[in-house]
Amino acid sequence: MHRTSQTALDRYKAKRQLPGAPQASARVRNSVVSTRGRLVWLLILTAVLSVTSWHAIPRRPEPVNLTYEIDLASAPQGALVITLVVEGKLPRSLDLEFPPGVFGDQSNGVTAHAPTAHALGPDGEPGHPLTVDKTDDGWRMGTAGTNRAGFIYRVDLTRAAGHQQDIRSHISTPVCGGVRAAGFELFLEPVNVPTGDLTVAIHNPDELPVLVPWPALVRSRDNLERSAAREVPQGAHLGLGQGFAPQPGIPPAASAAGTGQTERARPVPANLLFHPRDLADLNNALLICGDIRIASAQARDCVIQYATDRDWLFENADALDLVRRIARAEIGFFGSSPTPQITVLLAANEITASEGFDIYGVHTGSSVLVLLAPETTWGMLEEEAASVIAHEMFHGWLGEAIKQSDPATLWFTEGATTWYAARMLTASGVWDPDHSREILGARLQRDYAGSPLLGRLSVAAAAAEVMADGQQVRFAYAGGVAACMALDQRLSELTGHRHPLDEVLRHLYNEAGDSPLSRESLEAAVLQVTGVDCSDWLEAHVYGKSALPPIDRLI
Ligand SMILES: [Zn+2]
Repeated sequence: MHRTSQTALDRYKAKRQLPGAPQASARVRNSVVSTRGRLVWLLILTAVLSVTSWHAIPRRPEPVNLTYEIDLASAPQGALVITLVVEGKLPRSLDLEFPPGVFGDQSNGVTAHAPTAHALGPDGEPGHPLTVDKTDDGWRMGTAGTNRAGFIYRVDLTRAAGHQQDIRSHISTPVCGGVRAAGFELFLEPVNVPTGDLTVAIHNPDELPVLVPWPALVRSRDNLERSAAREVPQGAHLGLGQGFAPQPGIPPAASAAGTGQTERARPVPANLLFHPRDLADLNNALLICGDIRIASAQARDCVIQYATDRDWLFENADALDLVRRIARAEIGFFGSSPTPQITVLLAANEITASEGFDIYGVHTGSSVLVLLAPETTWGMLEEEAASVIAHEMFHGWLGEAIKQSDPATLWFTEGATTWYAARMLTASGVWDPDHSREILGARLQRDYAGSPLLGRLSVAAAAAEVMADGQQVRFAYAGGVAACMALDQRLSELTGHRHPLDEVLRHLYNEAGDSPLSRESLEAAVLQVTGVDCSDWLEAHVYGKSALPPIDRLI
């Protein structure tokens, strides 16, 4: 860019025959220009140049501020109406898209449609309509020079068929009396425009219980009327596990744990605004509303939110306490929570595919969704579902804060998460140590040492293929656990410390920046924390096919 403007300057000088121009005739003429004349010329030159260069140099677009207003009026019918208010120096046309791979995929049961757009006046009143054209990945809004536009669209959710095995198709779905929806399937984002402030507001005319993973301003019916009458919105409340009237008849969580709480709506000041941190935070959100039971508790400085859309054979208060104990152990391990709140949703597993699992866990951002058989008892919850909750929650640190995107490190992200989930359950007293050893030992024996893939496929290669067959996936997870244990054991032998890998994980978390975990950054972290260069060892046992050494200590 510097070079381009320099050339433009030379061209300008030459054309105007000004001082410094690379032309002999210009220098000759220059000698007869008076000092005063030169000064005037210089001023004009500076002025003209600043104008021409302003236009010649491509400008960085200015950030636009985005407000998403989610209307829950049609949520009981499985639909959300979203108004995206875009403010700032808007380009002439603005492309709005969902994150890649979602838009237009009918099989996921999410359909965004019926877009309209209009300019917005300074008081928020809708002005003239704006053009909306379909693109391959979303829509293009003509902004017609306005600096404030509203783009309204509707998202319809339909339930994925039970034989649809891909768990991702079951994340966003209608639930009893409302919907459960992932941010990446709800929120259109502007393309090629930097974003400034992000705000989420929720219109909740029927006062449905609502849960979102970050604080959001929720306006109830009462509040909407007050807003229209320009009164202070005393009825607005927060989506931080503390804002919503729970379903009648739900026992307060405090009765079980002494720390849980279900609270009535609290008034908040009208000028309090709540923002997801960035677009990734917005996309990672899991929003749920409808006939849901909500409870919350505190683990250190983190709000633990729990919600479910059905009655179970166990008490919600007990489930919340289990979640809180797991969260306390994991927050204690890392020293802090990756997000101000952690949300765990329990729902019925309605996946009937023959290859399906009894329990599914998925995480998106700080939200964990666990699908369980409706007949799950308290014992089964502690025994089986707890490890899924602990695993998915652990990904909030290893996978989200320590970003996982390179398939070459999946063995570590999944292996360490699985191993540490068992250790966290032990630390929190949910599992006793013998039970943890039994579970881990049996899994390593069956899926790693006893796997026909051992010696034929490296653990890293097995884990890198996420859509592999069941045998390979089991080998990859068990192999990842074995590799993390064996690496920890080797580091322990060389340093004399107990569980040096713990410190490596905390180091990765504390130093986590924007760049995702890589084989190099993992090796560098091990070297920095322990002084051990583990690259040859990883090359042989993890990226190569040499069997891992036997493990002495499982937890
Ligand atoms: Zn995982």
